Amino acid sequence: MTVEAVLFDWGGTLSTHADFDLLAMWRAAAEVLDPADPEPLAQRLLDAEHAWWDERVGTGDGTGSGTTEDIVRSVAQTTQLPVQQAISAYHGAWDRAVDHDPAARGTLKALKDRGLKTGLLSNTHWPRELHERWLAEAGLLELLDVRVYTCELTHMKPHPQAFHTLLDALDVTPGRAVFVGDRLRDDIEGAQGVGLRAVLLTGRHPVLPSAIVPDAEMASVAGLLELLPSW
Ligand SMILES: [Mg+2]
Repeated sequence: MTVEAVLFDWGGTLSTHADFDLLAMWRAAAEVLDPADPEPLAQRLLDAEHAWWDERVGTGDGTGSGTTEDIVRSVAQTTQLPVQQAISAYHGAWDRAVDHDPAARGTLKALKDRGLKTGLLSNTHWPRELHERWLAEAGLLELLDVRVYTCELTHMKPHPQAFHTLLDALDVTPGRAVFVGDRLRDDIEGAQGVGLRAVLLTGRHPVLPSAIVPDAEMASVAGLLELLPSW
């Protein structure tokens, strides 16, 4: 195999996995939508987000996608409510919680120096602008040739369409690309399903026993620099 491109998941792969208080993020939106009594609404927004994820990638096959606005409007259906302001508050709350793997920049730089193409495929309801501001602040944006966010697609990982969108944009065939991710089903099984080799990042969060077998496992993205020449 000659590897031409390395494709990355974002959450828990290029970004670090922390113990976020998901309810606190939605509380920021709820305080805009219902200042007098935000807590019940914050819980309903969080429940709606969990259901949204589960329907698509938890129990689903990646069919369907959407935006933060879709989630908020599924709960706060009245158009009079300041939905955009609430979404901004919610996204702003995440600003303080996002961080990136210290090894990501050096690894991506080394891959680019070797002439490899790089790409990002993130299952997300957050908008491109938010992701790209975070990536730019971490010095990663310029090192990722193509970034695909499923909020702009009709499907999410592990659906084949999500992977093909990125491969087509990079003009690379699956047999010459590697996918790196932290989740067995969305990332590893999804990537292998379209013919990519798949590398599982371990140690980010507990991985339950599974019949899905990654082509390689590593504790840090930096391990790619040793692995890829052997492929
Ligand atoms: Mg991930």
